[in-house]
Amino acid sequence: MRKIFIAGNWKMNKTFAEADDFFGELSDHLEGKKLENTEVIVCPPSVFIELATDVASESDFYVGAQNVSNFDDGAFTGEISANMLRSCELDFCIVGHSERRKYFQDTDDVVNTKLRQLHKNDIVPIFCVGESLEEREKGITQAIVLNQLEKGLKDIEYNGNLLVAYEPVWAIGTGKTATPEQAQEIHGIIRHWLSERYSKEVSEDISILYGGSVKPENIKELLSQKDIDGGLIGGAALDISKFISMIDIATGL
Ligand code: PEP
Repeated sequence: MRKIFIAGNWKMNKTFAEADDFFGELSDHLEGKKLENTEVIVCPPSVFIELATDVASESDFYVGAQNVSNFDDGAFTGEISANMLRSCELDFCIVGHSERRKYFQDTDDVVNTKLRQLHKNDIVPIFCVGESLEEREKGITQAIVLNQLEKGLKDIEYNGNLLVAYEPVWAIGTGKTATPEQAQEIHGIIRHWLSERYSKEVSEDISILYGGSVKPENIKELLSQKDIDGGLIGGAALDISKFISMIDIATGL
């Protein structure tokens, strides 16, 4: 069943002490709260994963990784495998983020291998797709997004573990948000594709998150769209008061 997800992607931000404060405040805020149909995920840098899972084990939020290796194990200096993430009790992992596609050569094939690694290890991927400004202006948004879905999910059957995040690259970290109508249009297209690729039931089971300058001021309108099931949030998720306010708005809907 589709749920609302409020997922924070910290990227390469915060020190240990700042992370510790954030998790403490988040856990205090969530204590005794009924989140109903809403799930909270925080994806910190991997060095803070143990700190995060320690707090999360006594609280009501999940921890996700920001990246995973496309290899199983072995001589791959600096890499972290899906099996290692699983052994640290991580439930989610971002894959296909536009920053990884742009700066770290995460091609569609690499993204597909990473998705398979997560699939094999029962970690829920937060699978990001989205077009650049140039692609939007050329009118090829739909083709780009469907091609990323097609290639990323090649030969991957649905096992109940998948979140998709539509993140127009031009809206990430720029302060520009897609209008709720622009976002809904692509979310509707993604859900339709999922229903054809898997089934109507599966497409109704998968939450599709929107990402791109989500903040307390615009989250309510975005979440009121029928195919938007949450947010993958960068900048505004670094600030505990903004993050908490977005959780409260989502749970109050
Ligand atoms: C992101 O990191 O995926 C993101 C959407 O960032 P921001 O909210 O800062 O645009």
